[in-house]
Amino acid sequence: MWMEKMSIKVQENKEYLTSLDQAIGDGDHGINLSRGFSEVVSKISATNYNSSSDVLKDVAMTLMSKVGGASGPLYGTAFLKLSMALNEKESTFETFTTGVDEALNGIIMRGKAQPGEKTMVDVWSPVVKLFKETNEFNSDKLKDVAREAAEATKDVKATKGRASYLGDRSIGHIDSGSMSSYYLFEALAEVLS
Ligand code: ADP
Ligand code: MG
Ligand code: MG
Repeated sequence: MWMEKMSIKVQENKEYLTSLDQAIGDGDHGINLSRGFSEVVSKISATNYNSSSDVLKDVAMTLMSKVGGASGPLYGTAFLKLSMALNEKESTFETFTTGVDEALNGIIMRGKAQPGEKTMVDVWSPVVKLFKETNEFNSDKLKDVAREAAEATKDVKATKGRASYLGDRSIGHIDSGSMSSYYLFEALAEVLS
């Protein structure tokens, strides 16, 4: 359900994500993700799975192979790490917290961005912090934290990714990958609430 919701959000906001990426990137983020997540939904709805870990592994493989650019490998790595963390473990809040933390570490390892560089890390990192600070799922808080973090990238100067080529001119625009990461956590909050 998480991926179905994410796919719907990405299709609905395809133009918006593209316009964000047009301002400070190459204008393909909405296109990349709408194609990627519709491939994800086709793949997982046509397959029978024994665990959520197996589903997430296919999500990762699909995004890595079907989505070009920076975001495909980064989201792919995130879902692969999450899948690995959930594998053969009891599905508890704690396991999931470890999983999103490992996913963030995977994004950082792959993209070499730290928080504050105007990338999706700026959303993933406060979300992981929220998971670590609490011991139960709070969907309203998750949505708020993720949305505020995505919006806050507007005032930041990009030092990683394509937007970094613009230097100070990247200030004043929300980072597209941070906005799509917000949709991902908003979708999660909606399925778990
Ligand atoms: P591309 O920039 O290759 O066209 P996309 O437009 O699909 O790829 O994705 C751009 C998004 O990817 C950015 O908005 C940013 O959030 C994220 N991104 C780019 N580079 C990095 C990086 N090094 N680390 C983390 N995220 C990154
Ligand atoms: Mg782009
Ligand atoms: Mg591109």
